Amino acid sequence: MDISFVIPVYNEEGDLLQLHSEITAQMARLGRSYEIYFIDDGSTDSSLALIKKLSGEDGHVRCVSFRRNFGKSEALSAGFRRVTGKYVFTMDADLQDDPSEIPAFLAMMEEGYDLVSGWKKERHDPLEKRLPSKLFNATVSWMTGLKLHDFNCGFKCYTKECTEELDVYGERHRFMPALANERGFRVGELAVNHRARIHGKSKFGLERYARGFLDLLTVSFLATYARRPAHLLGGLGFLSLALGVLSFIVGIFPFRFNHLFLFLGSALLVFGGLSVLLGLLAELVVARSRAPQKTIHSVKEEF
Ligand code: UDP
Ligand code: MG
Repeated sequence: MDISFVIPVYNEEGDLLQLHSEITAQMARLGRSYEIYFIDDGSTDSSLALIKKLSGEDGHVRCVSFRRNFGKSEALSAGFRRVTGKYVFTMDADLQDDPSEIPAFLAMMEEGYDLVSGWKKERHDPLEKRLPSKLFNATVSWMTGLKLHDFNCGFKCYTKECTEELDVYGERHRFMPALANERGFRVGELAVNHRARIHGKSKFGLERYARGFLDLLTVSFLATYARRPAHLLGGLGFLSLALGVLSFIVGIFPFRFNHLFLFLGSALLVFGGLSVLLGLLAELVVARSRAPQKTIHSVKEEF
């Protein structure tokens, strides 16, 4: 199998037929073998019925249907576990991603990229969505060290190896390029045509950015400290202990606000001590829970 598509679907009945015919037209032109996985993420409209109809008519169509809505990341993960293609595309089902970009993605993949991420350069979304998105992308770029304009674009192409190693859960779909980069995969970006949503409505509101920033904290913490949490917590703890001692020394002198320094000193000492202990506790968790298959390092070749 050459190419697999993974398409998360949550109440997208208005767009599925057209999306399917646009992908089919592109693939007919390319003449490569392919499969299309629709992952029905607990839709309550006629999406599933439409997918059933499509799969009856077209042998390329496959479907995984969730019992309830589990979220986009889980949908992608279910697809990644099943795909057999050398290259794996993810696309939104709402026609905002344009299948005529498929050849451009493939050209970049053939250059040797492991993940090519779409960049909605001219974005057709309301301003209240574009502004926070800019801020989000700038912060993620800065914190993860991977400079991309657009982390959140649903249109991406991965090598099979890349999908096998990356673990999408929670809402980590936003960080796939950063996670791939962290493991040493080659990540690139491609400016894509972005279309306005015509049918249905967006499933994500502004709360996505609050969650996104929390996830960013987790992702960057895990990237650096997953195997050595005491280095972060212990470091913070020692810093706090040192500041506490300093503050006490200042507080010993009898000047007007010296009791404030004594108070601050005790607080810092307590926090520092707890933080060091918490770091050790975290190390205990890490030492006990090394799941055999989930390694942090990534092997490219072996002899
Ligand atoms: N989606 C999903 N499960 C969810 C939310 C969204 O499978 O819980 C799918 C949705 O059907 C669409 C894609 O994820 O195919 C992106 O969603 P949406 O277009 O609402 O996001 P936006 O374009 O606003 O970022
Ligand atoms: Mg959309």
